[in-house]
Amino acid sequence: MALVVQKYGGSSVSDAHSIKRVAKRIAAAKRAGNDVVVVVSAMGDTTDELLDLAGQITPLPPQRELDILLTSGERISMSLLAMAITNLGVKAKSFTGQQAGLITDAVHGRARLVDVVPHRIRETVEKGQVAIVAGFQGVSSSNDVTTLGRGGSDTTAVALAAGLDADVCEIYTDVDGVFTADPRIVPSARKIDRVTYEEMLELAASGAKVLALRAVEYARRYDVPVHVRSSFSNTTGTLVTGTHGDAIDPNAPAGDQEEAEMEAPIISGVAHDRSEAKITVVGVPDKPGTAARIFEVVAGTGANIDMIVQNVSAAHTGLTDISFTLPHADSPSTLAALNALQEELGFASLQYDDQIGKLSLVGAGMKSHPGVSARLFGALRDAGINIEMISTSEIRISVVTREDALDDAVRAIHTAFDLDSADGEAVVYAGSGR
Ligand code: ASP
Ligand code: MG
Repeated sequence: MALVVQKYGGSSVSDAHSIKRVAKRIAAAKRAGNDVVVVVSAMGDTTDELLDLAGQITPLPPQRELDILLTSGERISMSLLAMAITNLGVKAKSFTGQQAGLITDAVHGRARLVDVVPHRIRETVEKGQVAIVAGFQGVSSSNDVTTLGRGGSDTTAVALAAGLDADVCEIYTDVDGVFTADPRIVPSARKIDRVTYEEMLELAASGAKVLALRAVEYARRYDVPVHVRSSFSNTTGTLVTGTHGDAIDPNAPAGDQEEAEMEAPIISGVAHDRSEAKITVVGVPDKPGTAARIFEVVAGTGANIDMIVQNVSAAHTGLTDISFTLPHADSPSTLAALNALQEELGFASLQYDDQIGKLSLVGAGMKSHPGVSARLFGALRDAGINIEMISTSEIRISVVTREDALDDAVRAIHTAFDLDSADGEAVVYAGSGR
């Protein structure tokens, strides 16, 4: 008998009809002889709507209250889903994150799991019942309700799969798996059959929304096999695991490991991100310690910076410009902190640009194949798209473009690396993409 953790995203449970449909899948998995634990997100765009509502009350809602508000979305879906499953003659019980034993730190809005003690979930499963757990939430050691950050239900699912030693964590969404690009932008995108944790981490960190970054980190740390698939079809989705080949025994001879590596495709996919902005600190003195001071100030605001570029300084002035990218949401506090220290930091002015887009090409095979950057830059040239910033890792190349050129850039790169599918358009079954 297998223990399966299934996670259903908001677009899979957007209304009463969808909840009944998902309940049928769950009941079928149970009747097929599996132990089933379900993690569910809030219905449709509920979380965004609750955020909008809070914004109508106050521009800066207290984080603790915002967390209580947002976790109510998952309470609605979990209870309705438990009712729907019970209606089908299968016993089911729903639990909040707190009841399910998801213990976090106290950082509201982006809490990290510190412990998973799913006693009640285990008890429920042992009684032959389906346990439904509210995604995206936990409780801090001081008994405050917390949320795990947007898309956090994926993390709940992977953490429970690890804590319960499940055989697989199935992530049900509104597309058939992980694609070579977002099918909403590139209809010719192809479903990827297998991807490694390493590649999936880079894709998720670069803006691919199909899996939350922290969930992938967690899956890699605890070696949880993740199967991303659609709740609207029965198609096999994408398997996210440690290697491209069949599971390799860690004690196997080095030759076997290399063989598995060689199966790695050069490119896994193209991710894009519109959530960042660029700040340029203009005219800073080019001397030791300047960058350190600037980024100490930035770090002090809690901003999560991404790319950094420092220009060559003009010899006659000894001044340089430093640009960096960061999430839109972190920009106001960062600009304010830098402005407050203009005199001490000695810069001339600040420029803020929120019209940028980032494209990232990811693939483990890049490590051993020359010419990938040249092909990427060549394709952007042919499409007439200007590159504003570049950064790389061993298995990723990212470029910043104008935001309105981003979709064209993604399509051009997808084609340039022969990723387009020969057999028809990718299906997007549901979801507003919000
Ligand atoms: N409902 C939350 C969100 O929309 C969590 C999730 O969907 O995973 O971010
Ligand atoms: Mg959601």
